[in-house]
Formats: sequence, structure tokens, C-alpha cells
Amino acid sequence: MIPVNTPLLDGNEKKYLNECIDTGWISSEGPFIRKFEEQMARYVGRKHAIAVANGSVALDAAVVAAGIKPGDEVILPTFTIISCAAAIVRAGALPVTVDCDPATFNMDVNAIESQINKKTKAIMVVHIYGFPTDMNPVIAIARKHGLKIIEDAAEMHGQTYFGKMCGSFGDISTFSFYPNKHITTGEGGMILTDDDRIAEHCRSLRNLCFKPEKRFVHDELGWNFRMTNLQAALGLAQLERIETFVEKKRRMGRLYNELLSEVAQFQLPVSHLPYAENIYWVYPIVLKDSYSGDAEEFCKLLTDKGIGNRPFFWNMHEQPVFLRSGLFKGVRHPRAERIARRGFYIPSGLGLRESEIHEVCATIRGIL
Ligand SMILES: *Cc1c(COP(=O)(O)O)cnc(C)c1O
Repeated sequence: MIPVNTPLLDGNEKKYLNECIDTGWISSEGPFIRKFEEQMARYVGRKHAIAVANGSVALDAAVVAAGIKPGDEVILPTFTIISCAAAIVRAGALPVTVDCDPATFNMDVNAIESQINKKTKAIMVVHIYGFPTDMNPVIAIARKHGLKIIEDAAEMHGQTYFGKMCGSFGDISTFSFYPNKHITTGEGGMILTDDDRIAEHCRSLRNLCFKPEKRFVHDELGWNFRMTNLQAALGLAQLERIETFVEKKRRMGRLYNELLSEVAQFQLPVSHLPYAENIYWVYPIVLKDSYSGDAEEFCKLLTDKGIGNRPFFWNMHEQPVFLRSGLFKGVRHPRAERIARRGFYIPSGLGLRESEIHEVCATIRGIL
């Protein structure tokens, strides 16, 4: 079996983890947290970085710290992970979805403005699968209407838009360090911002909103979203090699492009546009209409042949949990509905070997 993801942990990971054990610093107190936060902030070019337990809770804290209140509306892509809409709904706000661009899978930036009304407070941008969202139009719309930008850069470590780091575009930006991301801490996440007040609020939300002056008296409800020193140790070792990781991912993506270019039934990912070159967080494929089956059917064939795979995201406006609660009544997003049913991704983790990429492609050609 060629797994859909294998992480690469062959740098200073073991050394730093041993330091945690040798010194006894294993909780969220400990020197690696600060170091990891400082290095991430420097790498992305932000003033503040706040390490948290995972990328999903980073969004929960970000939505609250962005000042989203019950009754507010937040615009987001329908084609994304549940964490995005869940954070908005948990804050008591209304998620308002837009369709996707069929080539980059990112939110259709031309569909944003018609969704704005008096209740709209923010645009949540999610860069999907390795290619960044076209940010300039989003920034222009946000400025024009006085909206905050929450940027989910969970899949974009090391990616740039017109040369500027992803994770630097939001009033609040978030990352995930799940093992399939470009750098991992096992489980982990990060919130980045340039705003002192937002940063302080996120630090407080992460730590149960304990008050510095009167610890067990609370003005607000927070969470325990703390990252451990063990996770940060792993993260620091990974971050040291981010450039190598991004280059490796790009090489893997280019090899897949080359080996699959003749497959008439596949829509392959966009390799570059004027504003970015793909970093292939995963290698996504959409089945063209010339293939009669859907992604579920094709993925079953891949699994039977020992090739790891995952279906695409399932759209927010089609989620049973939201439909049952009365959200998204009558909402349709035909392009996202199509790729959710016809899209999947193939093995693309950092630990994947070149020989395995050849094997994956040979198997695919065999199936077709
Ligand atoms: C992975 C991911 C998340 C969630 O991160 P976790 O650390 O798994 O909670 C959020 N948003 C996007 C776009 C992701 O890819």
C-alpha cells in the first residue's frame, strides 16, 4: 500500500524532543513554544504568532478575536474543511458561502461582493490544495466594505502570492501542523496577526481567559487550546527545513504533471498563474466528463490496487449537519458541487519516494 501521506521527520526532531524529556519541559510552558512562535512570525513576516492545539481551534479563536458576534455574517468558500464553517457557527454567526473557481478550487472572488450586506463582518479566505486565493480583489473588497479578513493558510506554509507570504494577508491568519501539512507538530496550529490587541485576545482565549492579575476570575470564556513544548520542539525542527520541503513538494507535483499529462480523463492542478506557482499541498485530480464514473468509484479502484487516496472536501452548503439546522436552504454552487463529486487526491506526502510516484501513475494508467 502506498499511503496518501507519510511525514518526513529526519531533521532535528529527535534531538529537540530529547531536550524536552531531559529538561522535563513537556507542557505548554517551556522554551520551544516561544522559539517556534518567534520563528513562525519571522518566517511569515508577522508581528505576533500564537501557537495552539490544532488548525481547527486556531479558526475558533480567530473568529472570536476578529470580533464576530451572534447575528453577524461571514463570507467563506463552500469548498473547504468543516473547521471553517464550524468556527463561524459556534460563534453564533451565519456562514455565507460562495462557489469555487473550477481550476484553482479556491473561492470565486467575483462572487463575494453580491453576498455582502449590513450584517457582513468578515471574509474568511481559505487557500486550497497548494494554490493561493487571488488576494488582491479580496483585499480591495474588504477595504471598500470595512470587512475583516480571516485567512486560513493551513495548506500554504511557504507559499506566496505575488511574492508575499501566505499567512500574511489576514487581519488574522491561521495555520495547521497536522502530519499531512508542509510542516507538522503531530497536532498543532498557529494564529498570526500584526495587531497587538488581537494577539493578546488570542493568547487569553487559548488559555481559558485566565486573568494575569486575578487568575481564577474570568471576564470571558476561553478554551484550553494550548500547544505543548513537545509539539513546538517538533515544529521548530520542521520549520528549519521548510524551504527544502516546499521544493520537494514542487518537484513531486511537477513529476505527477509530467507522468499524468497524457491522461485524457483527468483535469490536473494548475501549475502556475502570474501570482503563484503551485506548492502541491496535495496532488488533486478532477475526473473530466469523458470518464463516466465518479470520484468515489475511481477511489475504490485505487484503494483495491493499494494506492492511498482521499476524496475532495464536501461542500459546506451540502453538509447534513447544517442543512438539518436550517442553514443554506436553496443554496446551490454548481462548480463546487461538481468537483466535490469528481475530485480526489493521490499520495503526496513529503515522505513519498520518486519510485512510488512512478508506481502510482503506472497503476492509474492500468486502471484506465
Ligand atoms: C488541515 C486544515 C485545517 C484543520 O487543521 P487541523 O490541525 O487538522 O485541525 C483547517 N483548514 C484547512 C484548510 C486545512 O487544510
